[in-house]
Amino acid sequence: MTFYSTDYMASFRCIGSECEDTCCKQWAVRIDDQHYAALQRLADKHPVLANIVVESVVRVEDEENDAYASIEMKDNGFCPFLDAQQLCRIQTLGGFDALGNTCTFFPRVIYEIDGDIEVAGAFSCPEVVRGCLSSSNRPGLIEVDRQILPRDVGDAISNRISTRDGTCYEKHFPTVRDYFLQIAFDPMLTSKQKMYTLCYSSHRLSAQYNNDCGEEASQFVEQELERLGSKEIKSLLGERLEHYVDEEKLGLITVQSIFLIRSQHYQDEPLTPYINDIINSYVRELHDENPFTTEIEGLHQVYHRRKHAILDIARSQIEDYLSRHLQNCLLREWYIRFPDPFSYMLMLTLRQALLRFLLYSHPSIYKWCLEEQEHEATTLHKVIEELSIEMLFLFSRSIEHDTQFLQNIYSALITEQMMELKTCLCLLKGV
Ligand code: SF4
Repeated sequence: MTFYSTDYMASFRCIGSECEDTCCKQWAVRIDDQHYAALQRLADKHPVLANIVVESVVRVEDEENDAYASIEMKDNGFCPFLDAQQLCRIQTLGGFDALGNTCTFFPRVIYEIDGDIEVAGAFSCPEVVRGCLSSSNRPGLIEVDRQILPRDVGDAISNRISTRDGTCYEKHFPTVRDYFLQIAFDPMLTSKQKMYTLCYSSHRLSAQYNNDCGEEASQFVEQELERLGSKEIKSLLGERLEHYVDEEKLGLITVQSIFLIRSQHYQDEPLTPYINDIINSYVRELHDENPFTTEIEGLHQVYHRRKHAILDIARSQIEDYLSRHLQNCLLREWYIRFPDPFSYMLMLTLRQALLRFLLYSHPSIYKWCLEEQEHEATTLHKVIEELSIEMLFLFSRSIEHDTQFLQNIYSALITEQMMELKTCLCLLKGV
C-alpha cells in the first residue's frame, strides 16, 4: 500500500487552540461502536469526562454511516469536550485512540485507488487553506510516508475504486483525472483558461464516457484524451474564451440569484454577514438601489468597476488562489460521484464564479487597492492572503459543504436547461 498526498497535506498539523475558527463546533459528530467503547473506558478513568459523556454522547441507530453514537454540541455550538484552552479533552487524556474517525482524520479526505491511499485536504479548515495558498504548488500528488496520518486509515476511507473490477466509468478515472490535473496545474494557462479547458474536454468526453458507459467507451476515451492534449486545441479554446461575450449577463444573473437566496434564507451561516456586507457596499455605491433585487445592469456596472480597480498585483494573487482552489477540488472530489464529468465541471465552474465574485467584491480588498500608494506591496500581499484565507474557508463551510443546497442548484440548472457549455462560458466571461 503506497500513500500519496499533496505537499501541504503531508506537512499538515492541526493548530488546535491557535485556530481562528475551530472545527469543533456546529457538528453532530458521529462515532462507531469501537470508539464509543474506548470513550467509555477513558471516562471511567477520568471523572472530568464522565459527566460530559453522560450528558452529551447519545446513542443513534445509523448503520449505514457506521454510527453508533453522536456527540451533541452545546447550546453555543461548541463541542462539550473542548477545555478552556479550546483543546480536546479526549485527545489530551487518551490520544487519538479514543477519538472517532471524524475527529481523528478531519480535515483529511482519504481515498483508495487499487489499494493505494490518497490524502487530500478539506478547505473548511483554515490551516489547510493557508497551507495550500502558500505551498510551492508542486503539481499533483507526491508519495508520502504513512506516518502523515494520525493512525491506521481503517474504515476512514471516503471512497474506493478498483480499476480492475470496477465499472468502465471507474476504470478510466485515474487516466482522465490525470489529464484534468495536468490542465489544472499547467503554468501557461490562466485560471479561467484552465476552467474552460476542463469544461470543454469534460463536455466532449461525457458524450460517451459517463456512469452508464460500457467497454465500447474505452477506445473513445483514449482517442479523445489524445486529441484534447494537443497544443492546437488549447490555443483554440483560449481564443474562444477570449472572444466570447456574455450578452445576456447570464453568469452574473446566476451569481446574483444564489447570493440573494443565501442572504435571505441562510442568515445563521458564517458566510452570510460577508455576503450582506458586499450587498450593502454595492447599495451605497448605487445610491440606495439594491442591485441584488433589481435589474442586472447595476450589479454588472459596480462589479466590473470594482474588478478594474483591483491592482494587477492583487488580481494575479487572487487568480492564483482560484487556481489552487481548483486544483484542491480536483484532488479532493471525485467526478465519478456525478453522472458524467461535465456535470461535475459545470458545478465547479459555478462555485469558482461565486468565489471570484466574493473576492473581487470584498469591501476590504477593494479599499486596500484604492489606497495603493499608502501601503507597501508586501503588506498588500499579506492582507489579501489573510482575507482570501478567511473567505475560502467560510465559503467552503457554508456553501461547498452544503450538499443539499448544491443539489438544489444542480436540479435548477437541469430544469432551466443550463447544463450546457454555454453556461460555463457565461460564468467565466461574466464574472
Ligand atoms: S479547523 Fe483545522 S486547524 Fe482548526 S481546529 Fe479544526 S482541524 Fe485544527
